[in-house]
Order: sequence, then structure tokens, then C-alpha cells
Amino acid sequence: MRPVITFALKFILTASLATLAVIAPVLKAQGVAPSPVPANAPYKDASLPIEKRVADLLTRMTLEEKASMLAGSGWMESTPVDRLGIPAIKMADGPLGVRSWAGSSAITNSVNSPLAKVQTTSFPSGVAMAATWDRDLVQREGQAIGQEVKALGRDMILGPTVNINRVPVWGRNFEGYGEDPYLTARMGVAYIKGVQGEGVIPSLKHFAANNEEFERHRIDAYVDERTLHEIYLPAFKAGVQEAGVWTVMSAYNKLNGVHCAEDPDLLTGILQKEFGFKGFVVSDWGSTYSTAPTVNAGMDLEMPGGPPMRSWLNTGQLQATGSGAGWLTADKVLAEIKAGTITEPTLNSNVTRILRVIFESGIFDHPHLGGGEVDTPAQQAIARQGATEGIVLLKNTANLLPLDAHKLHSIAIIGPNAATARTGGGGSSLVKPKYAIAPLDAIRETIKQRVGQSLQVTYALGVSMEKEDPAQDTPEARAKSLSEAVDAASKAEIAVVVVGRFPRLEGEGFDVKTMDLPAGQDDLIQAVEKANPHTIVVLNTGDPVTMTKWLDQTPALLDMWYGGQEGGHALASILFGDANPSGKLPVSLPKKFEDSPAASNYPGQDLKVSYAEGIYVGYRYYDTKNVDPAFPFGFGLSYSTFEYSNLKVQPSHAKAGGFDPTVSLKVKNTGSRPGAEVVQLYIHDGHSKIDRPIHELKGFQRVDLQPGETKTVDFTLDRAALSYWSPEKKDWVADPGIFEIQIGASSRDIRLRAPLELKP
Ligand code: BGC
Repeated sequence: MRPVITFALKFILTASLATLAVIAPVLKAQGVAPSPVPANAPYKDASLPIEKRVADLLTRMTLEEKASMLAGSGWMESTPVDRLGIPAIKMADGPLGVRSWAGSSAITNSVNSPLAKVQTTSFPSGVAMAATWDRDLVQREGQAIGQEVKALGRDMILGPTVNINRVPVWGRNFEGYGEDPYLTARMGVAYIKGVQGEGVIPSLKHFAANNEEFERHRIDAYVDERTLHEIYLPAFKAGVQEAGVWTVMSAYNKLNGVHCAEDPDLLTGILQKEFGFKGFVVSDWGSTYSTAPTVNAGMDLEMPGGPPMRSWLNTGQLQATGSGAGWLTADKVLAEIKAGTITEPTLNSNVTRILRVIFESGIFDHPHLGGGEVDTPAQQAIARQGATEGIVLLKNTANLLPLDAHKLHSIAIIGPNAATARTGGGGSSLVKPKYAIAPLDAIRETIKQRVGQSLQVTYALGVSMEKEDPAQDTPEARAKSLSEAVDAASKAEIAVVVVGRFPRLEGEGFDVKTMDLPAGQDDLIQAVEKANPHTIVVLNTGDPVTMTKWLDQTPALLDMWYGGQEGGHALASILFGDANPSGKLPVSLPKKFEDSPAASNYPGQDLKVSYAEGIYVGYRYYDTKNVDPAFPFGFGLSYSTFEYSNLKVQPSHAKAGGFDPTVSLKVKNTGSRPGAEVVQLYIHDGHSKIDRPIHELKGFQRVDLQPGETKTVDFTLDRAALSYWSPEKKDWVADPGIFEIQIGASSRDIRLRAPLELKP
């Protein structure tokens, strides 16, 4: 009998305590007026530790005030608590610059929208910045963006995007940093450091496995634990652990059956417990589907909120896309608290995470009042440097490039992306710059400055951009454009064809229809190449394109991605040799879509997409399974040549414990121009107990070298560089044995190798 009585008593006691815990705050909230706040309340004292300030402030908040903080008050503003001086966090979209915060990108991107008044620096796309492999530059970009955010009186920028390029047709590949988790992590960390250094709040997005736009609100990504940890999570982990990121944005999609915004394993288990995240999670705009499960999972701030959210709820667009919104309004949260499905300690911990960031970023003590200058010459210079360093020279037969303006008399500039600056892909990252330089304008400007009238420039559209101008889309108009282009090409010494996509064919909310170039562009390249053997093809797009129809005949090929407002200047400086190409591919360029590892598992069936290729993403697949891409990961030519030598690994035997071997080598510029080489370090693990890719990137250095100059390049390795994720051990594991250190100029051009033994 005794145990039964004890159990019964225990039950009654627990139940009454639980009821009390639920009722007490509600009573307090309903009946008692909040106590006045003394002028010297500890939370107002900037000299006190943040945790003390947060704890003090929390005790002064009513339940309603706390509940109100879990949802936004506008399209891009969190909810302030004026009584206590808690400011609204004022956001702006990114990550490729600062965007108008007046409404959804559908409104602010429309051409004559009065809401799109904000004009800021349009930085190159993420994939272009990743192609620079220049951490310092990405950090300076983050800093510049942070400065523009402040100058406009905002507090938070919605970026960086660190989702991995899993399929070549994802509509948002251009926003992220390519296919490799190590490179993506380094770029993301640099961006965050730049932004946070300015006291501006970044948002690391989209957590997690948001790798296609197809049905992005409903799609359910099935990803195994090892693949998640090795491919899709490292950039988030690095953002938390290396940059101390203040906020993370949860993704729209489901992951393994659960919406990311209400996934406790993801938001509490992995993000908070495993990675140690102390900041807050913001929902993606319309990515919530429940109240208690969302709050309890550790999703802290629902966006958007207030009147814009309420009117959005009534739109057909919301229903049609499967978006979710309006779940964390104060009334709904309070009702769940009353019902006992959310506890006050849980609410406190969500609010704590938001308050912590408000204090840590400095916006409580030093609000951003705005009124500063944006798009300054210094910011423009960073955009230009990024666009220039990001251009990848893919082919240069017989050194057709660089062009010597003094020796040429005629050049034809052709293509749907020649006379219009295509700065970025579509959607919430598309920035409205004050100016943007098209390739044609920049080429004309360079020629005028260099040789005046002695080099004649002709221009032909060649083919109109699919979907852009219905008047140009008729068979007659197309035939006319093509023959004008052929005529221009045949009369010139050099033809430059700038092809690619534009925001309506590549952007957020939809995937790219096909890896093939838009209608008519392959034909244009073929026709121009036939008319002029000295044809330079320039790709101006974020996603890879199929090149099989013309690549063999193309003597010179450049990938300029979307280069932001300075893309045209960057291209001209590479064409005419003012800059030496130094970009390297952050993504493999497959020959055709079917060759890509996830091709047979995209976009999924019945709204489920299986990441069945597992860890074999990008070069991990192409290099391991011997599938030749058109151009491999890490590849990029220069007008110089570089020689690698003297690889040393010290010590070459390492014990599992004190593990810090250094790798050094020498790189020499053997060409006649100053240039930069991106030296890549891959690890090959041929002995491990489990299946591993043939090699994985674990280090890189961008090295500037004068002609004839040699520099020593050093890397320090850690255990993580040798490890894989073990689902059994729930940890990173490096199996003792002999690894190979590979130093390469691309994933397919390994120049030096040396062993490194990990002793048991
Ligand atoms: C995008 C986010 C963006 C947000 C706010 C969403 O549709 O996925 O990246 O920050 O909108 O515009």
C-alpha cells in the first residue's frame, strides 16, 4: 500500500504545484500593475555583465510583455516594450547588401515600387564572394554592410546565407557560398565577424537543409545524421562557435518530417546544446505552423508580425504557397501558457535569448539613429574588389586574354547580359543600387580611357533574355537579332558574348527551370563562334549552365557570376589585363544536370526529398566516383602560372591528444604578372573504418605574389580536419592510421602530397 499512497500524494502535490505555476503568473498578469522602474535599475547599467542585466529586466516584465516579444510588430520590426525601454529590433534584408524593409520582396523588387526607395551598395552574389576565397575581403564586406545598416537606422541584416549548393538548379545557389561546407563556413564566419564588429545583428540562414525552392514551405528533406553534420550543418556550427553569431534564421522546409521552426532536435538539441548557441532564432518570414511546439522547440521570434502579418494572412498567396504565420502572437502564447502547454520558464528562456542579443549588440545602450551615408567610395571599392577577385577564368586557349587595347581596332560586344547590368538573382537578396555598371559600358569606358577612338566598339543584343521583353521574343525579332550579332562578330577582331540569366529566371521562390542557358543563348554563342574564332564567352549567372554545345569551340571563357553593381568594371579590368584573374570555383560545374549527384533525388516525390546521395555532394561525388565535371571545384586560371614545392608536415606523426601538426609549402609566381593563387589543402583518408570521400577540403590560403616571388604558405591542422561524424558515437571521430595531405590548385589538380600518421 505504501508506495501507492506515496505515488498518489506525489501526484496530487505535483499537479497542484503545476497548476499554481501556471495560474500564478496569469493572475499576476491580469491583476497587478507592473511596478515602476527606478532610473537606476540594474538592467540600464551598461557596465554590468549582460547576464545580470537580462535577469534583472526579465523580473520587471509582465507576462504579457514577455509574450509580446515572441512575435514581430511589423514586416521587419520586432516588438518593443516601451515601458521598459526595450527597443524594436529593426531589420533589413540581405545578405548581398541592405534592402528596403518596407514589405515583401515581391513588392519592393517591382520596378517602380514607391516602397523600394532604399538604394545601397549592391555587393557581388555570395557565390562570387566565395569564388574570391578571400576571408579578409568577405569580412570587410560584412563590415561595410553593417555600416550601411546603421547608417539607415536599422539594427539587423538578414544574412549570411550558408545553405549548400546541393543541386545545380536551386534558385538561391547564387546567395550562398557554394558546395563545400568548409569554404562556406569560413565565408560565413568572416561575414558575421564583419557585421557584428559594427554592433549590427546578422542572421545566419536558413537553418537547415534549405537546398531547393521547389515547394519550399511544404517540402520535407530527409537527411541522415552523418550527412547533416558533415555537409549541411558545419557552416552553422562555425557561425556559432567561431563567430559567436547572435541570431539564426530557421528554414521554411521540413527536416526529417518536422518543420524546422518547431523542431526541438534541431533548435534545442543541435543548435543550443551541441553547438552552444546563446542568441535567438528568428523564423523565416512565414515559416511557423504552431504555437506551443514552436516556442518549446526554441524558436524565439516569429516574423513578420503586427498589421502586415495580419493582412498577409488573408492573402491567397500565403495559402497557395503553404506559408505559415501568426502563431506566436501574444494572445496565442498567453492562451498556451494558461493551458499549461508552454511554461513560464520556457517563455523566460526565449525572451532571455532575445534580450541577450539586444544588450550584446549594443542597440539598447546606443540605438542606431540613422542619417549616415551609404554607398560610399570605400564601400563601392569593396564591391568592386569582390567582383574582380570573384571572376573565374575557365579557359584561355593560346592566351587570347588579356586583350591589348593598343593592338586592336575592333571589338563586338554581344549578348542579352552585355548592355544591362545583371547584379544579382531575384528575391529578398536583390539590392537596388544607386548605379550599376553593365559590361558594355565598362568596356567602352576602359577603351576610351586607354586608346580613345582607335578601338571601335560595336554592340548587338544577339538574343533577348527569355521572359524579359515580349516584343523581342517573336521568331522574326529573334532572327533579326541573331543576324545582327553574327554580322557584328564577323566584322570585329574580337567578340565578347555575355550570356546568363536574370532575376525572373533565377531567384528565390522557384528553382531554375533547366541548367541549359535561357532560350536562344546557346545558338547565339555557336553562331558568333562560327563567325569569329576569337570569341570570349562570359557567364553572368549564379547557377551552373550546360556548355556542351559550344565549349570545345570556345577559346576563352570567364564566369563573372552576378557581380553586384561593380560587375561590369570588374569584367573590363580582367578582359584588358588591369586585373589578373584569381577566382576559383566554389562549386563544380557539371557537364549536364544528370551528372550531378542529387539529380535523381530532386525535387523529390510527394513533397519528400531524400538526400540519398548522402555526403557525396559536389566534388566529394565527382572526384570519388570518377565523374568528370566540365570544370572542377577549386579550379580557376590566371594570366600567371604558379609553382608549388617543398611540402612539409611537422610532425608527420601525431598523437590523438596534443594534435597540432603544421603543413607548409612554397608557392612561386612563375609568370610575368602580379597575381594571386588560392592554395587548397585536401585530406585523403584511405584507411578509415567507414566510407569517406576521396578527399575533403580542410584549408585554403589566398596568396598574392609578384612575378618571380616565392612565399611560404602555412596551415595548422586540427583533429577536426581528419574526422568524420559517427552517428553511433554522436561525435567526430578520426581513425588512427595514415592520412594523405594533398595540396592542390583545384580538387582535380593535386600538386603535392605528404603522409600524416595519426597514432592511436
Ligand atoms: C527568405 C529570407 C528572407 C525573408 C525576409 C524569406 O522569404 O527566405 O531569406 O530574409 O524572406 O524577406
